Amino acid sequence: MARTLPTLHETDLEAALLRKSVGSLTATRATCEDCGRTPLVGEHLYRYGAHVVVCALCTRRHRTEPDAVELVRHSERGQTVKIIAARAA
Ligand SMILES: [Zn+2]
Repeated sequence: MARTLPTLHETDLEAALLRKSVGSLTATRATCEDCGRTPLVGEHLYRYGAHVVVCALCTRRHRTEPDAVELVRHSERGQTVKIIAARAA
């Protein structure tokens, strides 16, 4: 008696790979706690406490001063080749 095996269609595989890649991108991305927006590179993020991070647009809603202000950097920061020391000629 032959068993029927589940088949994987090409469109299912594409959708699964897309979901996986988008999920991995959003896992490391900082988003505003208030509006859910992802700040652009070069914008500032305002940190209130250990877990609340808001964007520049939403920081006006908070009455206290932020504990820290962080610059949003490009995702490839720290993964580029750097010149450590110049060689003497
Ligand atoms: Zn916001």
